[in-house]
Amino acid sequence: MNQRWRLIALWLLPIGVVLLIAWQILSSGGLNDLGNRGPTVAPRNTAVSRMSYGRFLDYVEAGRVTAVDIYDGGRNAVVEAVDPDLDNRVQRLRVDLPGLAPELINTLKQESISFDIHPPKTAPPALGLLGNLLFPLLLIGSLIFLARRNSGMPGGPGQAMQFGKSKARFMMEAETGVKFDDVAGVTEAKQELEEVVTFLKQPERFTSVGAQIPRGMLLVGPPGTGKTLLAKAIAGEAGVPFFSLSGSEFVEMFVGVGASRVRDLFKKAKENSPCLIFIDEIDAVGRQRGAGIGGGNDEREQTLNQLLTEMDGFEGNSGIIIIAATNRPDVLDSALMRPGRFDRQVTVDAPDIKGRLSILEVHCRNKKLEDDLSLESIARRTPGFTGADLANLMNEAAILTARRRKEAIGLSEIDDAVDRIIAGMEGRPLTDGRSKRLIAYHEVGHALIGTLVKDHDPVQKVTLIPRGQAQGLTWFSPDEEQSLVTRSQLKARIMGALGGRAAEDVVFGHQEVTTGAGGDIQQVASMARQMVTRFGMSDLGPVSLEGGNQEVFLGRDLMTRSDVSDSIARQIDEQVRAMVKHCYTETVAIVSSNREVMDHLVENLIDKESMDGDEFRDVVAKFTEIPEKERSAPILD
Ligand code: ADP
Ligand code: MG
Ligand code: ZN
Repeated sequence: MNQRWRLIALWLLPIGVVLLIAWQILSSGGLNDLGNRGPTVAPRNTAVSRMSYGRFLDYVEAGRVTAVDIYDGGRNAVVEAVDPDLDNRVQRLRVDLPGLAPELINTLKQESISFDIHPPKTAPPALGLLGNLLFPLLLIGSLIFLARRNSGMPGGPGQAMQFGKSKARFMMEAETGVKFDDVAGVTEAKQELEEVVTFLKQPERFTSVGAQIPRGMLLVGPPGTGKTLLAKAIAGEAGVPFFSLSGSEFVEMFVGVGASRVRDLFKKAKENSPCLIFIDEIDAVGRQRGAGIGGGNDEREQTLNQLLTEMDGFEGNSGIIIIAATNRPDVLDSALMRPGRFDRQVTVDAPDIKGRLSILEVHCRNKKLEDDLSLESIARRTPGFTGADLANLMNEAAILTARRRKEAIGLSEIDDAVDRIIAGMEGRPLTDGRSKRLIAYHEVGHALIGTLVKDHDPVQKVTLIPRGQAQGLTWFSPDEEQSLVTRSQLKARIMGALGGRAAEDVVFGHQEVTTGAGGDIQQVASMARQMVTRFGMSDLGPVSLEGGNQEVFLGRDLMTRSDVSDSIARQIDEQVRAMVKHCYTETVAIVSSNREVMDHLVENLIDKESMDGDEFRDVVAKFTEIPEKERSAPILD
């Protein structure tokens, strides 16, 4: 014990010295300043007595305050007040303020009390230098401290890791309050996890027949699909405490802190068993070891090792179940997935249309909807939305409803909220002029190709109201839950994306095309390249020519990564170019032969600013035949 105190003193010494010097410089600097600019730090002499903020407000109201001097960026003030009981004698009082609040300034103005705000003093140069020195000194101090303890203490290196204990960063919720009813649209995952509730509530049912209760489950799925929510629901249903911690919080600057956090977490959990431990973003610690230039991240590996040790260390029936979540199961270290660790994987995917409908029902429980608003049509409009997106959508719609001072959420609020979530904030409409015309032709180009090419998704809406980065937008309604895309659909999408540029080209001429098609062209390039290199849809045949688009693990893959040869790379480029060129020629042909209908559509669009799919198709149908689109009907029962 004696030794420890000596060590602490050793550590505190440099800090003390530094603080002393800082104080010296500060006070002398303050004095120098007094002469010319008036005091910049509230005078701290004892002759001025203190007053509470509440009292100060009372004094203001009573009209007793005559002047206020505000210091330290509004954190304290010296107030001059008169005392009617003492012959209106002037008192000077110090007040601590909650900050420079505009309300206070307004009140002072209203009461016409004279006030002055003294700017905070700029630190003298020496102090700045000192500030720079302070950090390394502190660091050196603490390093010495740590090193001393490592070598000098009987406990050895392990002792240093007590360091993490002081700021345990995990959260514990005794009662999550979430039930399985609150999670919708992920039926399979829910079924899998309902069993876990029984593990926690009645472990004897399994242990009595000699079954090992699984220790860890891995929830795999994209962000926002409800992984955290599911874990909380399990704890909520089982009525056990919920410990949670995010993988990224394990990884700290100091080696060993993460490992010690893991140890603390498990210690606390054991004290509170039965309970559930939730580790979010486990890929932050659980990445394959040995990856990374220069031997990888020591800290992460130590943390991971600690986690594995802890998981092995408790018996299967200790009443603790660990649930981890990730969206990158492919990068996890295989040691994590071994039997007895996270050996059960549950996939939590983005919901299908039925799932979306039931999620919407959950999130509409506490909201007022117009009677004729059909949740089904919202579910249909939102393919690809996750549970979090849908929750966000209903919330945005509710906010819009309140802003418009309506009683209940209606279809127009939902529509606006969907658009806003997908494409960003609505901007101001363009003023009429040449560029509005050009944008109109560009969008009509996209929409017309989308309508006239058989395999393209149908147009849902065309608009000239800017949103996010886009000046105008064309929305298509994608086929419900389409997982396989055909070659002709991909080709149709390329043509649709080229439609904007083609229209500019045909109508305004080769020299007048604009940068507006930049985003379209990027998309076209990536679609065409994938058709060649990933989907085997070119003359090069069904060969995969790139190792997918996996993230390269620095260091591990850098050396061994096989790339395509120069000559293949050239052939890929040629194929991509030929494909895009061919599509562009076809697109221009369609646009040119439908010039008349385009002009009509553009007049219409400039007039109305937005056209929905049916309006658009009605105009087109007057001029030319629209091919029937094959759609898989969504199943809803
Ligand atoms: P994840 O952990 O998968 O990223 P969360 O569980 O944190 O997603 O989800 C965020 C929020 O989105 C939840 O609090 C909930 O409001 C909503 N949400 C997500 N998935 C669902 C779902 N399946 N059912 C109901 N609400 C959901
Ligand atoms: Mg989460
Ligand atoms: Zn475009």
